[in-house]
Amino acid sequence: MARYTGPKCKLCRREGTKLFLKGDRCYSDRCALEKRNYPPGEHGRMRYRRRSNYRLQLREKQKLRRLYQLLECKFHNYFKKADSMKGVTGDNLLILLETRLDNLVYRMGFSPSRALARQLVLHNHIEVNGKKVNIPSYQVKVGDRIAPRKKSRNMLVIDESLKTSGSRETVPYISVDVSKKEGVYVEEPTRDIIPVPISENLIVELYSK
Ligand code: SF4
Repeated sequence: MARYTGPKCKLCRREGTKLFLKGDRCYSDRCALEKRNYPPGEHGRMRYRRRSNYRLQLREKQKLRRLYQLLECKFHNYFKKADSMKGVTGDNLLILLETRLDNLVYRMGFSPSRALARQLVLHNHIEVNGKKVNIPSYQVKVGDRIAPRKKSRNMLVIDESLKTSGSRETVPYISVDVSKKEGVYVEEPTRDIIPVPISENLIVELYSK
């Protein structure tokens, strides 16, 4: 499965915002954006860029795509799916991304980052409603119960992640029982409670050209 393997902090610096790609480091003062909040590259600090409408739309799309760590093709497929659904395309897009299994594993605190959550899913450490699921893009439905599998419950990475999960952002559409190490996706979120600082209408404009 293809994925981006280059330097992660550069992506945050390029977008000028935290994308939380490196687990607990992102919540500490070791975050690269705290020290160098300017675009990467030799002339990153000096470079002047014209703020064209297209540029704003493109950057917004890249930000969202990189936040969920998807390649362009996959991301575009999500957009097409969101566009074909009832309701507001931008809202649908965010709900589809937010209900990916790897994202909810991260949101529930079983992993400190989406990248590691994806790896936990791929390596057969996660179950949904008691059944093994190893597809990171698996679309979780309301009421689904997500947990590490029995053989994986005592993995250090999961324990450590749950210990520090309190310092990360929480979302109201999941409930997590830390002692039982399981979480439930309780309701479909509305746009206003998805903590993703993106102007999704710019992305819709970009793809609608
Ligand atoms: Fe982004 Fe995390 Fe690196 Fe900070 S530490 S720049 S949030 S990946």
